[in-house]
Amino acid sequence: MTQLSRKSFISLGSKTIGGALLTPSLVGFLQGCSKTDLLSEFDWQILSNQLNGTVLLPGATGFDPFTIPYALQYGKTIPQAVVRCVTEKDVVTTVKWARQNNIAITTRSGGHSYAGYSSTNELLLDLSGMTNISLNSSTGLATVDGGARNRHVFSAFSETSLAITHSISKNVGMGGLVLGGGIGFNMRAHGLTCDQLVETRMVTAEGDIAICSETENPDLFWAIRGAGGGNFGIHTSFTFKPFAVTRVTMFELAWNNFPELVFAKLQDVLMTAPNTLGVKVTIEMVRRRVQPAGFVLRPVVTLRGQFKGEIAEFDALMAPVNAISTPIRVVTNEDYWKAQELRSEEGAPKFVHERSRFAFEPLSAAAQATIFAKLAEWPVTSGSAKFNYFLLGGAISLTAPDATAFFARDAKMITTIELTWKDGDQNIFDNKQWLDEFLLIMEAFTSKFSYVNFIDRNEANFLNTYYGPALPRLKAIKKAVDPKNYFRFPQGIPVG
Ligand SMILES: Cc1cc2nc3c(=O)[nH]c(=O)nc-3n(C[C@H](O)[C@H](O)[C@H](O)COP(=O)(O)OP(=O)(O)OC[C@H]3O[C@@H](n4cnc5c(N)ncnc54)[C@H](O)[C@@H]3O)c2cc1C
Repeated sequence: MTQLSRKSFISLGSKTIGGALLTPSLVGFLQGCSKTDLLSEFDWQILSNQLNGTVLLPGATGFDPFTIPYALQYGKTIPQAVVRCVTEKDVVTTVKWARQNNIAITTRSGGHSYAGYSSTNELLLDLSGMTNISLNSSTGLATVDGGARNRHVFSAFSETSLAITHSISKNVGMGGLVLGGGIGFNMRAHGLTCDQLVETRMVTAEGDIAICSETENPDLFWAIRGAGGGNFGIHTSFTFKPFAVTRVTMFELAWNNFPELVFAKLQDVLMTAPNTLGVKVTIEMVRRRVQPAGFVLRPVVTLRGQFKGEIAEFDALMAPVNAISTPIRVVTNEDYWKAQELRSEEGAPKFVHERSRFAFEPLSAAAQATIFAKLAEWPVTSGSAKFNYFLLGGAISLTAPDATAFFARDAKMITTIELTWKDGDQNIFDNKQWLDEFLLIMEAFTSKFSYVNFIDRNEANFLNTYYGPALPRLKAIKKAVDPKNYFRFPQGIPVG
């Protein structure tokens, strides 16, 4: 096998590698790549010959979409190749080949890492061709391939009266979602996505298959439920125990008036709401036109979610809030999967920075006043500013904090502060400062802990922030499973 050293690369003529003619794609690739020990097209061909999937080199048709991160500000990082695995055997082959060729692998499932951590300038192992979902009627279990997205869950489950906890963003990968925990509107009734996981198949750094469940590799099974994304191996499938669903009320309510009073009352209502209610609350700074030309910013409170019950019951629940101000409302009661389809979104890439903190107590009056005060100071982007929270509790807290790596079982909510903007926005520096200050001030009311699926390049103390008390055990498991730190990324779990 030809492996080019830096020396041989430099000494070669500009148009050939090891005597092989360079294609335009490979030339572009060499110019754009920072790595010095480059593999030849011939090497990649050897890998390609062993796969059912395909190897794409830079410049190849269809290559570019794989390099785009969800958060567009992280730009394009050009991998040496995109290896599109379509079977578990492809994954095993690629891991073994990559080790022999001394190139690091980064796994991409749905590509929705908030920090662009499914990008690399080495080997990008793409699972997006592995989307099969099978439901076993005798066991009642559903097996989801490692590259399936929420859209595939929607279409496979819509044939049934079953569900798992999922996102409403169709393009988000189930791989990244479940490995970080997995929140969704079902979580208060049925737990996190990882709570429905009974088994996963993982390709290790050695290229072996590790089955992880309560009975096989239980330590690893503990670790990957909350800390699995990119850290221990490549998960080729996930087997879930789904729950039954029927009709559901889905809603989006927006209150334009008395936002502070609405926000306070809404939290009071939500803190005692039944677990059959799953919600995301948002305060968004909305532009209102004023004459002659211009706008003022006004906070608008919105509530999105689903309720297992009739519209009338939901309205009764919201009556104390609606007594303060009448919302604009879109409310439907439909069969479960039809309702999800109606309220779903694509989750297309954009310029966005969202920072999160778990809150273990309801937001106090002082916290609420701080939120509105900081939103009023927003330096304004070409996009939006939001304060959000996802209501936790219910079935999530039935699992002990040390039973899985997702330790924040007693949290009341995940709060986030979210900025979006458009390309070329000149005001980003001030906005980032505002975002960081806002998050820091809110720590007095929330916590220092953050949801790893809202992974964030700005977290200085990221290991403690994401994993808290689970960190020592996670490091020990990492050392046992991947002692050479083969699966790594800038905020990965270190060895030992
Ligand atoms: C628009 C949007 C909506 C979202 N909605 C929700 C939501 O409703 N609920 C929720 O909990 N989170 C949500 N998230 C957060 C989301 O769960 C995380 O961003 C998650 O990591 C995305 O997974 P992915 O497979 O799409 O991303 P990727 O970028 O492909 O992967 C994320 C990380 O996981 C690793 N990884 C992915 N697949 C595997 C695998 N099979 N084996 C090993 N490692 C793997 C990658 O290497 C990377 O480090 C949302 C994010 C976005 C951008």
